[in-house]
Amino acid sequence: MNWKDYLKFDLKQKNKHKVITLGYAVAIIFAFVLSLTNNNYVEASVSKSERLDYQLIENNIAENLSDPESVYPSASIDNINGLFSMVSSLVREKDVQKNIEVQKGDTLISVLTDLGLDRDAANDIYYKLKEHYDPRDLKAGQELSANLTIDTQTDDILRLNALVIEPEIGERVVVSQNETGEYLVEKIKDELITEISNATGTIEGNLSTSMQKHGVPLRVVNKFIQIFAYSVDFRRDLRKGDKFEIIYENQVTTNGESVKSGDIVYAGLILRNNRISLYRYEDKKGNADYYNETGRPMKKILYKMPLNYAARISSPFGKRRHPILKDIRIHWGVDYAAPTGTPVLAGGDGVVQVAKYNGAYGNYVKIRHNSEFATAYGHMKGFAKGIRPGVRVKQGQVIGYVGSTGRATGPHVHYEVVHNGRRVNPRTIKASTGENLKGQNLKNFKVQVANIKKSYQNMFAQNESPKMAQK
Ligand SMILES: [Zn+2]
Repeated sequence: MNWKDYLKFDLKQKNKHKVITLGYAVAIIFAFVLSLTNNNYVEASVSKSERLDYQLIENNIAENLSDPESVYPSASIDNINGLFSMVSSLVREKDVQKNIEVQKGDTLISVLTDLGLDRDAANDIYYKLKEHYDPRDLKAGQELSANLTIDTQTDDILRLNALVIEPEIGERVVVSQNETGEYLVEKIKDELITEISNATGTIEGNLSTSMQKHGVPLRVVNKFIQIFAYSVDFRRDLRKGDKFEIIYENQVTTNGESVKSGDIVYAGLILRNNRISLYRYEDKKGNADYYNETGRPMKKILYKMPLNYAARISSPFGKRRHPILKDIRIHWGVDYAAPTGTPVLAGGDGVVQVAKYNGAYGNYVKIRHNSEFATAYGHMKGFAKGIRPGVRVKQGQVIGYVGSTGRATGPHVHYEVVHNGRRVNPRTIKASTGENLKGQNLKNFKVQVANIKKSYQNMFAQNESPKMAQK
């Protein structure tokens, strides 16, 4: 016989009160064990005052063992039965938290029906949600979290208690179910505070680890490197004792949780007592860029090397003995050796002028950047998709791949910079293809620079010695 039958059977016996005591004790133990295993639903189902009652009864049992009848009214038996059925139903139901990663091809409906919701409920949620969030914005890789009540014996979904979508960091759309089973949708935005952080330090070994050692988040470090990639060759230009300086924004929640490492306001490098300072400036249209103190954009300076790869210079610019033709001639570009297939990047924003097989150059691309500057790339294995004359390209865009077509002894890219029709050394040019700040923008920028300078003189007192380099 099971415990319920035993209870019924035994209740017929004289020692009712013992059974009652046992019943309460078992129920209390059940409730206690449940409170250990799943706090939430016990909290929800057994109110504090009810628990207090059990405690009272338990104490009375201990104190009044001589006269048990006085403690237990006859209604107690019903109470026990009620408690048992409540406890046993709790045992069958369980709240679970599920995190769902949206897969390619998933829709909100498919996600919900995969969770075990029926089509009607899924549609209902879809239309309610639409008022706050377009479910078609769900992207592969996005994470949703759901709180579900399931039947522990069958694993069936009994209820969707909540569904949380995070369209953006610090923003949540929450679907929940009220007592009558109706779905409600709410949009919650975290209040974010912008904090200004700064760091400075000596570069030991590599820049990235040095900056991270000083507490700069990797995301910010990468931005810092990007900003300087236009004017500094990190592989060759850094020396022992060089320093970095950075002022950046951090977006934090009211609990101080870092949500987003924001924009770099100021980035400085002190390379052998030569300080390169770059300041962020955002114009009225919302275009942001980095400028030196005089308002000259650093971003648009032509690349010294059209590869995102620490390539070896296999042949420098200038006079050399030709490896194939064996005579002395001038090498009109720089050769960077890299594995076949390494992407070749546009040295600056511009328009493709030539993209074809060009004799000794092999597969060749020429890009015009502005009225002064053009760049050319030779010996490529092939061209990137869409690269043909007339096409506009962005700096850093892949235009082709390293190869050894034409007159070449091994895989490399031959990189030329043409200034006013003359080929110049890409390693030494100071070619700006971007717009200098002018007029009101320049005025605003100068005020901003003055403010930043004032604050960084306090922040970076230890780096005082170097003068501001005119770069
Ligand atoms: Zn060459």
